[in-house]
Amino acid sequence: MAPSLRGSAIGETICSGLWTAIGRRDQKAVQIPGLNTGLGPSFFQHETNMRYTHAPSPVITVPVAGSDEQFPVHRIYCVGRNYVEHAKEMGFTGREAPFFFLKPADSLVVVPEGTTGTMPYPSQTQNLHHEIELVAAIGKGGRNIRAEEALSHVFGYAVGLDMTRRDLQNEMKKQGRPWCIGKAFDHSAPMGPITPIDRCGSVEQADIYLKVGGQDRQRSQISKLIWNVAETIEHLSAAWELQAGDLIFTGTPEGVAAVVAGDLMEGGIDGLGTLKVRVT
Ligand code: MN
Repeated sequence: MAPSLRGSAIGETICSGLWTAIGRRDQKAVQIPGLNTGLGPSFFQHETNMRYTHAPSPVITVPVAGSDEQFPVHRIYCVGRNYVEHAKEMGFTGREAPFFFLKPADSLVVVPEGTTGTMPYPSQTQNLHHEIELVAAIGKGGRNIRAEEALSHVFGYAVGLDMTRRDLQNEMKKQGRPWCIGKAFDHSAPMGPITPIDRCGSVEQADIYLKVGGQDRQRSQISKLIWNVAETIEHLSAAWELQAGDLIFTGTPEGVAAVVAGDLMEGGIDGLGTLKVRVT
């Protein structure tokens, strides 16, 4: 018989540690905190007469640096080929309108401040590439946002890795098929805490780098973005309605290359700390 999630049955049905609170029949509501959530109970009030076929997915959150707050994630947008030298290394001229792809929110590997995250070497690839990127976290949604006002929609910035199964992506490109299998796989989006914009200020002139095993792989400046954060938001919000909780991986500079199991990646952007991830 299928388990019912009605009322206090939740406590018996869902034993996962992610579910830290249980339904209470007398209150006709159930608190469903997600991963790492710091949100108040009112966010999670659900009528218990809702009958789910299975446990709803947990809310994916990213810690806010220097705070006990969590940033609940809506979508992850990514910009393709947004630094001239990276576009060239991928065989393009670097002169084109921005284009976008997405990763699922649950592909994030959230790495809290001062810790080293782990990502398992994914299946079906012999060529897992690192792409170190500035991540913009949207705090206020909107559509058709003009570049001049776009930065008022940014809550903060973080360091992220757009991990890529390059061999699969290249095969999909060759066949004119979607990139999902190359870009949107499980654990494909490690990222560090979000620094609120009022703490880090402008990152437009910041240095960005990635080392593997202590050796430089990628090193550039955010100022070399072809489409800066504001312009990216203008283009993106013309195609989708942005919402609070959206993350934008803004593209990677040149130097993308392979990692293997055991490698330690260490990336950073001035003012946003470092992101350490070991491939396992
Ligand atoms: Mn990328």
